[in-house]
Amino acid sequence: MTTVDDFNFENKKALVRVDFNVPLDAEFNVTDSNRIEAAKPTIIKILEDGGSAVLMSHLGRPKGERKAALSLSHICDKVSEVIGVQVKFVDDCVGEKVEKAVAELESGEVLLLENLRFNAEEEKGDKLFAEQLSHLGDIYVNDAFGTAHRAHASTTIVAGFFPDKKCFGYLLAKEIKAIEKVMKTGEKPVTAILGGAKVSSKITIIENILSKIDHLIIGGGMTYTFIKAQGGKVGNSICEDDKMDLALTILKKAKDLGVQVHLPVDVIAADDFSNNANTKIVAVDDIPDGWQGLDAGPKTLENFREVIHESKTILWNGPVGVFEMESFAKGTISVGNYIDEATKNGAFSLVGGGDSVAAVKQFGFEDKVSYVSTGGGAMLESLEGKSLPGIAAILEA
Ligand code: AMP
Repeated sequence: MTTVDDFNFENKKALVRVDFNVPLDAEFNVTDSNRIEAAKPTIIKILEDGGSAVLMSHLGRPKGERKAALSLSHICDKVSEVIGVQVKFVDDCVGEKVEKAVAELESGEVLLLENLRFNAEEEKGDKLFAEQLSHLGDIYVNDAFGTAHRAHASTTIVAGFFPDKKCFGYLLAKEIKAIEKVMKTGEKPVTAILGGAKVSSKITIIENILSKIDHLIIGGGMTYTFIKAQGGKVGNSICEDDKMDLALTILKKAKDLGVQVHLPVDVIAADDFSNNANTKIVAVDDIPDGWQGLDAGPKTLENFREVIHESKTILWNGPVGVFEMESFAKGTISVGNYIDEATKNGAFSLVGGGDSVAAVKQFGFEDKVSYVSTGGGAMLESLEGKSLPGIAAILEA
C-alpha cells in the first residue's frame, strides 16, 4: 500500500483530497473540526518534507450550483488554526485562476480550493474535470475515507492522471488497515456486534462477515425478526415479516460455518415508543401485545459481556437499543463498556458504519475503542465486501 511515507514532497505540490465536509452553525463557524484534525498528519508530513499542499474537498450538497452558504471559504480560518499555517483560499477549483494560485504556492504553504461540488462534473466523475484538477499537483494524495465509496472526479477519476505519483494519506491508510484487521488478519476469536433498526439494512454485512467471524451478537430492532422467525412472540416490537425467511437462512448458514450467534434472551419492553413509557423486563420471545422491546435486558447483557470479554477482535455496528432515549440507552452504553474492557485487555476494536459512530461519540467511547471509522457509508460498503472506487484507484497500476 503506497502512502505519503513513500514520497519525499520536497519542492513538490501535493494535490490532496480531504474530507472537510464539516458542520457549520448559522454564523458559518465550524462546530466540529474532527475531520480537519483527522487530515492534519498527512498535511504536516507534506509541509515538513518541504512541499506544499493543495487541498480539495466538498461541503454539503450544492448539487452543481455555486451556493454562498456552502463555500469552503467559511472554514479557511479553522483549517489554518488546526494546521498551524495561514491557509490561502481560491474561490474556484479548476481553471486559470486556480492554476495561477497553485503556481505561486511556495514550499510550506497550503492552498484550499473552493467546494468541488459547485461543479456538477465532480459527482458525475467527469474525466475532463478530473484532468483539470490533475494540473494542480505533482503527486495525488487521497485522504478522504468518507467519500472513498464514490467514483467522483476528485476521489477516483483524477488518480488515473497520476500513474505512479499517487498514494493514500495517513487517515485513509489507517481506515484500510483497521478494516483488514477485522476482516482478514484479526486475532481470534473475532466477534461482530450488529445492532440498529432493521435486518434489511444489515443483511449484506452479515452475509459478508459470517465466514470471517467466530461470534455474532445480534441486538437492537433486528432482534425481533429473528425471534419471530423462530416462533417467538414479539408483541409490538419492530419486525420485518418479509425478512423472516432470510433470518432463518442466516441462522442456518451461521450454524454450518460454526459461528455462534448470540441473540437477546430478555429485553426492556415498553408500552409506548417513548422515553416516559412504562417498562418491564420480559423474555425476548414472550413480549405481550401492546408492548415492544426497546433495549437489551440484564441477562442478555450478561451474556454479551462474556462473549465480548473473551474476544480478541471486535467489530461494532449499530446500537443494541433505542439509545437516543435515556430510558433505553443502558444496553448500548453497557456494550460500549464491555468493548472498552476487552480493548484494555488487548483486543482490537473497530466501530463504524452508519449511525454507530454517533452512539459512540455521545457516550464518550471514542477514545476507549481501538478505532472509530470516519466514514459512515464507506465503512458500511467495506463491511459489505464491496471494493471502494477511491481505494481501488490508488491501488491500480
Ligand atoms: P442503524 O442506523 O441501522 O444502525 O439503526 C440505528 C437505529 O436503530 C437507532 O436510531 C436506534 O434507535 C434504532 N433501534 C435500536 N434498537 C431498536 C429497537 N429495539 N426498536 C426500534 N428501533 C431500534
